[in-house]
Amino acid sequence: MGAVGAHPTRATTEGTASMIGHLPAWREDGACWGSNSDVFFPEKGGDASEARAICERCDVINECRDFAVEGHEDKGVWGNTTERQRRAIRKERRESYA
Ligand code: SF4
Repeated sequence: MGAVGAHPTRATTEGTASMIGHLPAWREDGACWGSNSDVFFPEKGGDASEARAICERCDVINECRDFAVEGHEDKGVWGNTTERQRRAIRKERRESYA
């Protein structure tokens, strides 16, 4: 299950935190912290360029991408990747471990 509601842009309520478990501290170092999360969740086929431009200047991009890849985040832009790109990364990793 993806951690919907845990995107780095989003403040986390106690209830959300307990529902999704541990949340990484790097979220608050993200370039998107506290910004409009809608930008990071474009409609299917929508423009993700604004979100990706923010990610490009983020100091925790690698942590964020790995978290989303390993956590199977299935929505939104994380670590300058779309879900489609994260699926490709997972596939590559599975094949390299095989
Ligand atoms: S890489 Fe992008 S989504 Fe992740 S914390 Fe940084 S700005 Fe936010």
